[in-house]
Amino acid sequence: MPETHEIIIVGAGLSGLSAAHFLHTSVPDLDILILEQDTRPGGAVRSFQEQGYLAEWGPHGFLDNNEASRALLSQTGLDRIAQKAPLGSFVRYVCHEGRLVQLPQKPTALLTTPLLSPLGKLRLLGDLFQKPRIEEQNVGQWAAYRFGPEILPLVDAAITGTFAGDYERLSIDAVMPGVRGLEKEAGSVLKGLLKKKKGAGAGMLPAMTSFPLGMEQLITTLTNGANILYHNPVRAITRENETWEIQTESKTYRATTVILALPINRTLELLAGHTPPLAAIPTARIATVALGFTDKAQIPFGFGYLAPERENRFAMGALFSTHMFPGRAPQGSVLMEGLVGGRRHPERLELSDEELISRIYDDLSKLIPLPEPPCFTRVLRGNSGIPQLEMGYPALLNWKDSLEQRLNGLHICGFGWEGIGMNDMMKAAKMVADTILHRVGGKRQTPEVRPVYF
Ligand SMILES: Cc1cc2nc3c(=O)[nH]c(=O)nc-3n(C[C@H](O)[C@H](O)[C@H](O)COP(=O)(O)OP(=O)(O)OC[C@H]3O[C@@H](n4cnc5c(N)ncnc54)[C@H](O)[C@@H]3O)c2cc1C
Repeated sequence: MPETHEIIIVGAGLSGLSAAHFLHTSVPDLDILILEQDTRPGGAVRSFQEQGYLAEWGPHGFLDNNEASRALLSQTGLDRIAQKAPLGSFVRYVCHEGRLVQLPQKPTALLTTPLLSPLGKLRLLGDLFQKPRIEEQNVGQWAAYRFGPEILPLVDAAITGTFAGDYERLSIDAVMPGVRGLEKEAGSVLKGLLKKKKGAGAGMLPAMTSFPLGMEQLITTLTNGANILYHNPVRAITRENETWEIQTESKTYRATTVILALPINRTLELLAGHTPPLAAIPTARIATVALGFTDKAQIPFGFGYLAPERENRFAMGALFSTHMFPGRAPQGSVLMEGLVGGRRHPERLELSDEELISRIYDDLSKLIPLPEPPCFTRVLRGNSGIPQLEMGYPALLNWKDSLEQRLNGLHICGFGWEGIGMNDMMKAAKMVADTILHRVGGKRQTPEVRPVYF
């Protein structure tokens, strides 16, 4: 007989673990089984510790301006130990004509930034007069049409910092649905923002959040008490008379409710029989190159920098890790994490560790005074690719919504559905849990307009 549970979650990454957490918090005795293909939980979230250095294979932090992640942190007690780097006091840099220039943190700072010419600044206001184009556009087309072409390197930096992506391929409707809604409703982004600005908390900048043991501390906390079967890849899911059958290599499980909490392409594979409009979407992989230096390295104060493609740099950017979260290097040392690869340069991930380290160091030392070579180096090559929400993605999201409505008991969240960031994952997991607990609609909420996108 197949083993039966009330709820089966496929995937013990942040999404699956968050869904289990929100369900258990409301109904502690729910019978939930999580099936995970790997021998460890966490998926893309994985921290690295060696010789007093703490670096990340995957995400480095998430902003504390999301209701679902704030709830999760306070329910687990993680809010008491969270490390915060407020955007208000830390600056970010963009590589501009071969040097690091502070990125404007607020829209008003755009007026004084050296990153735009006087004409370029004036052109930003052109948004007020541009009629919204309804058709799907890539992020670059959309931004140039609304704000003028000079904005593109800044857009490039933002897209590199979030998606490791290419702004000429990503769909604006998929990447910023909230801003797009505002534009369509008010006739322009600026008009819409001005209307919205009156709300409470407007203008407040959030903080980047991590934990003393790195991002993985979130995962280890969420696995406490969870019923997870590791080394159990799910191969197929089918529906038999209101019950879902979930097949792994060795066994069949049954549940009336199943949550697929997987990266989008894994879900598309499992649901291929339901003819999705796309069989798969592109992904972008990154390598993190952790570099420890003595404190003679003059790393500017702030989060780090991003390099638009037209700067022709080797690294997409670097995080100034010990400024952001102190204590991530031994006493007297500092840590930077360079990021390489992404949607545009997958070939760079084929380079040997030695070559990656030498080319990153060469690149960084042209931007930052680094009088001595690194005293610690490590290349972290994660397996996860960042899903690229490119043209055609909105149709895929509609397909997912209609499938969930048609197939009772099927719920879908995970990397690439409803966004790609950790906040997006925790928010979607909470929505799935709420839908299951209240058996309500399952319709997506109105997309939000965020004060900060990366
Ligand atoms: C390099 C990198 C940097 C990032 N940086 C940031 C950042 O700084 N800030 C931020 O907010 N976000 C960042 N992200 C995104 C963040 O990591 C993701 O939003 C989040 O980890 C996705 O969690 P998930 O559980 O949906 O997917 P995953 O982490 O991919 O977890 C899915 C799980 O499902 C398992 N699985 C897959 N197939 C099967 C199967 N058939 N059967 C059973 N189990 C299966 C996998 O083994 C995995 O454990 C980054 C991502 C990457 C890759």
